[in-house]
Amino acid sequence: MIAACLSAACEPPPDAAADGSVAADAADRADGGARARRIVILLIGDGMGRGQIDAASLYRQGATGRLHLQSLPVHAEVVTGNLSGITDSAAAATALATGELTWNGSLGIGRHGLEVENLVELAHRRGQRAGIVTTALLPHATPAGFTAHQGSRADYLLIAEDEALGARPEVLLGGGSAYYDGPGSGSLREAGDLVESLQDRGYGVVRTASELGSADPAEASGLLGLFASDHMTWVLDRPEDTTEPTLAEMSAAALRWLDAGADSSGFFLMIEGARIDMACHGNDLERAIHETLAFDDAVRTVTDWADGRPEVTVLVTADHETGGLEILEPSGAGELPQVRWRWTQHSNARVDLFASGPGVDGLADRARDQRWIHATIVSLLSGEPLAAPPPALVADGNLVDLRYRAAEQIVTSGFGAGYNQLDALWLDADEEGLSLGVEGLFEWDHNAVVALIDVDLGAGTGPAALAQALSDPIGRLDGILSSSSLLDPGVDGWGADWALASFGGSDPRAGDRWDDGGLRGLTPASGAPDDLFWGAAATNFGEGVRTRGDAVAASPSPGEGWEARIAWSQLYPTLGGQVPPGATLGIAAVLVNDDGGYTSNQALPPFPDGTENPGRSLTPLPGVVRFVIDSDLDGLPDVDLMPTVVEP
Ligand SMILES: [Zn+2]
Repeated sequence: MIAACLSAACEPPPDAAADGSVAADAADRADGGARARRIVILLIGDGMGRGQIDAASLYRQGATGRLHLQSLPVHAEVVTGNLSGITDSAAAATALATGELTWNGSLGIGRHGLEVENLVELAHRRGQRAGIVTTALLPHATPAGFTAHQGSRADYLLIAEDEALGARPEVLLGGGSAYYDGPGSGSLREAGDLVESLQDRGYGVVRTASELGSADPAEASGLLGLFASDHMTWVLDRPEDTTEPTLAEMSAAALRWLDAGADSSGFFLMIEGARIDMACHGNDLERAIHETLAFDDAVRTVTDWADGRPEVTVLVTADHETGGLEILEPSGAGELPQVRWRWTQHSNARVDLFASGPGVDGLADRARDQRWIHATIVSLLSGEPLAAPPPALVADGNLVDLRYRAAEQIVTSGFGAGYNQLDALWLDADEEGLSLGVEGLFEWDHNAVVALIDVDLGAGTGPAALAQALSDPIGRLDGILSSSSLLDPGVDGWGADWALASFGGSDPRAGDRWDDGGLRGLTPASGAPDDLFWGAAATNFGEGVRTRGDAVAASPSPGEGWEARIAWSQLYPTLGGQVPPGATLGIAAVLVNDDGGYTSNQALPPFPDGTENPGRSLTPLPGVVRFVIDSDLDGLPDVDLMPTVVEP
């Protein structure tokens, strides 16, 4: 068509002007033909880890591996950690929607507090359409990551305004009418009617499944569906005569709408199965299974629609796992399997990515973080080559992205090889902070790993020996540190200013204050010996490095372990994020028992070969790692020198 159009009377494509996409159009034409039509559908099972998928597959099929989503041709693993450690749904949605790793609670806001373009905005900038479908209330964290820019995920009223007045996707389907309807009965709004605002812009509004089914794309420019005042009803609790559509029905309607309305350039659609996560927060297996199955039905609806449409890419993933769900005993179809939950919060477990269509082969068979999914979608929507995300130091338990394996173990674990091992100390740093990793194995609910950090090796602030220096009995970690039997290593100018510790595999996020894990200030400047001070550190364990004493011995995964991320503003609180000129850290790690008084024979740097557990006897630390952060004395981290082990 384009090639045949030689006369000046020939009209340009209708969307080639206003949206800045002219250059890309030219590139498309140069690629040989009319502008490519690009359709990307991202389905997110909130909280849907491998345990949730397996449980749902067992319940429906009597075997694992048989959900429809698992039949997609490309499979990969996704690492979900972020700046806070274990991610929440807001930060995970922001990573998927904007390609920025950020802090928990943030929506469309990057690490420095600035707004970042999301995929709905990107699609609109390119003249494409966009849709958001969820079983949660529409301003909830996951849809909000694709439609809002707010520092707090709790500001539902502001988020709803961002959705309806700002990003304004052409299709918005879910719950949450209380945040959209104007002031009055059933509404939480004190001003402004977002339903009316959208109607004024030509949107059709539907409130029931039958209205959704008969909504006609020819009669309205957009579609708002509000099917519940809050979250939509649990699948398990819906009566026969429910007026709420299923996630699959909402997905089908969104596809029909976006497809009919889309010009030649295509669309982006995000579909969320939101309540898998909510069920898992309550460790409610039956609800988690039914919500996962409803999500899988939506995936089938989407892939059936995509069948025979070669321009469609389908990506199915989770934002994170919730609950630490493990299958203990499989079950037959229609039965609930025997399971074990770790807790009622999110976990750091890797999640799955299943995909089909153009542009996804590069994701196959490798564990990557969520920014890669974003980069893939940007590449597909824009038609430009995939821009690989830059390396990012986050506490995700995956240590191989740290530059320095600074100390290695030489002593076999006296606390049980295969259950408790400190195998290597990894270090790295960038302009924002320190990354520290301990490769090895860590027993659930037993023993503590303690990393001591001296922020001024050579200057000697902080206690040189923990034994008898601390006296804070309140809280498990403080008790462990106060009971320490460790003496001065005899390294010049050593003094531990901070202790980063985890008891029994506890992995608090940067904002958490848990007695079982975290960063504790040891110097008078940051606390007192009898009342240790909390610091902020993101911590996380890699997949499978935490072991259970009642299970068979585990094998360590090389390059995985306990990882922490600490901002310079935390380690040097008076310097506004800078480091002191010539900043040099001293770091050592030890493994101790449940009360901290009994020291194992594994430290990093290591004890001499053949050392037995020192136990409760007073024992000098065997050495420390010297890590120069600022080698050219300009107060900016350069981290270009290999860390060295310093022995007395
Ligand atoms: Zn959650």
